[in-house]
Amino acid sequence: MKIQILGTAAAEGWPALFCNCEVCKKARALGGKNIRTRSATMIDDQLLIDFSADTYGNALRFSLDLSRVHTLLVTHDHEDHLYAEDLGTRYTWFAHLDKSAPETLTVYGNDRVGAQVSRGTFPYGGPGSRVAFRRVVPFREEALPGGYRFTALTALHDRSQQCYLYLLEDKDGKRMLYGHDTGRFPGETMDFLAAKRLDFVMLDCTDGPNAEGTNHMGFPDDVATAERLRALRCVDESTRLVITHFSHNGGLLHEELEALARPEGFDVAYDGVVYEI
Ligand SMILES: [Zn+2]
Ligand SMILES: [Zn+2]
Ligand SMILES: [Zn+2]
Repeated sequence: MKIQILGTAAAEGWPALFCNCEVCKKARALGGKNIRTRSATMIDDQLLIDFSADTYGNALRFSLDLSRVHTLLVTHDHEDHLYAEDLGTRYTWFAHLDKSAPETLTVYGNDRVGAQVSRGTFPYGGPGSRVAFRRVVPFREEALPGGYRFTALTALHDRSQQCYLYLLEDKDGKRMLYGHDTGRFPGETMDFLAAKRLDFVMLDCTDGPNAEGTNHMGFPDDVATAERLRALRCVDESTRLVITHFSHNGGLLHEELEALARPEGFDVAYDGVVYEI
């Protein structure tokens, strides 16, 4: 499984859109891995998890062919995870697909995601939109094209909607966990994961070095979550642990995050990073 993390910032981006704080100024000056856009992750160049407004820019930046994408898993409807208006450009007038491209892009998510997908594809709705929505049922495994299977797990995040994390398995049995946006995982999610070995785990690190855990996580929460997953035999020495979804409010630039995370066995994601598991 090839995992490419396209965007690694929290909602405001980093440098943040309208911010002139010291760490945003430093990120602008340093550039490189300190320039972070909003969430989306590409799997094997054919499946997306989350779809922020930065996805179009990242498709240009990383030379991606989004016509190949058959499935989009959306965690929740916050604007840094779903910019549904861009799904309207899959309409027949805007997107000319070759024969090997999937006819329909199927979007999975909660009801609020479904409402946004309807609005985003309007007025191009109907068969010409070539975008379908399916509401997910938590803890029920679903099969996808390409031999993938996924399960939506509950997150601890916006209380006004059911936010999800995704467990994704490929046809070879490789498993990845997309673990944001969330505070420390709910018990039912930990119970479901118990004894399922994970090859790759991405965790929320919005708060940088500071513990939080009720809506997002900081690095102390990531360490505690990995320890619980290790105790449940989900994580072992060969599991790749990666932190992402960083905010300028955490205050640490990329190299400072690496100095914090590497000794504890975590990688620090940056925009465009590719992992093979
Ligand atoms: Zn977010
Ligand atoms: Zn800032
Ligand atoms: Zn969110």
